[in-house]
Amino acid sequence: MPELPEVETTRRGIRTALRGRRISAFVLRNHKLRWPVDRALAKILPGQCVLDVHRRAKYLLMELERGTLIAHLGMSGSLRVVPADTPWLKHDHYEIGLDRGRCLRFNDPRRFGSLHWVTGDPLEHPLLAGLGPEPLGRAFDGAYLAGRAQGRKVAVKPFLMDQRIVVGVGNIYASEALFRAGIHPRRAAGKVGRQRYERLAAGVKAVLGEAIRQGGTTLRDYVSADGTPGYFRQQLYVYERDGQPCRRCGTPIRKLAQGQRSTYFCPACQK
Ligand SMILES: [Zn+2]
Repeated sequence: MPELPEVETTRRGIRTALRGRRISAFVLRNHKLRWPVDRALAKILPGQCVLDVHRRAKYLLMELERGTLIAHLGMSGSLRVVPADTPWLKHDHYEIGLDRGRCLRFNDPRRFGSLHWVTGDPLEHPLLAGLGPEPLGRAFDGAYLAGRAQGRKVAVKPFLMDQRIVVGVGNIYASEALFRAGIHPRRAAGKVGRQRYERLAAGVKAVLGEAIRQGGTTLRDYVSADGTPGYFRQQLYVYERDGQPCRRCGTPIRKLAQGQRSTYFCPACQK
């Protein structure tokens, strides 16, 4: 699944290609994505200039002159900027045609992606309105986490992955950040001290920042906006390393189930 670093890498790639370009056409081959795509976009979008491309959580916000397109990559989606005469691939669902002979194509085998058009403030759209702060933003720090965790009995790992607490901290990044902070994933969120939340917030920023610098890391077949693959180069401490020695202390990494997710941790380093 594209995680926040892949979405941010996509944003940077398509922003370069889209900003300042005028939309020439919108072609919808399959409107049945996670939610039906509005066929009227074929009339609404042409003629509008792309002012900028932003990101909120794992949503891409394409700011046009008269509104904003909110795109989500779902479980398996990717956006590519390609020459306009590029043959359509299987699972290509929509295309935003641009001036200068290029277009933006959306490919998504599992069709959990989405595309919405809003004319008001996109951050007030129901998909975005209830979301917690950005993990790389200033509002996300140890004091914030400690405040939200007060009295909470939920385990710290699902707490950290709750989009109302903070957005975009997927399973890999939650596991790795908890290791860096020395926090056991099953510890109750309300029983983690302020100093350890400072380390956890710093750990989240560090693992996401590293992944973004490496161009997105989590999907082995991930392709960025210009068509070049991203590679899993990040040094992982615990994720999918069960049975292997901890890189810090040598104790075998353990795996446990939390909800529907596998969690990896070092029983010696994380308390
Ligand atoms: Zn260890």
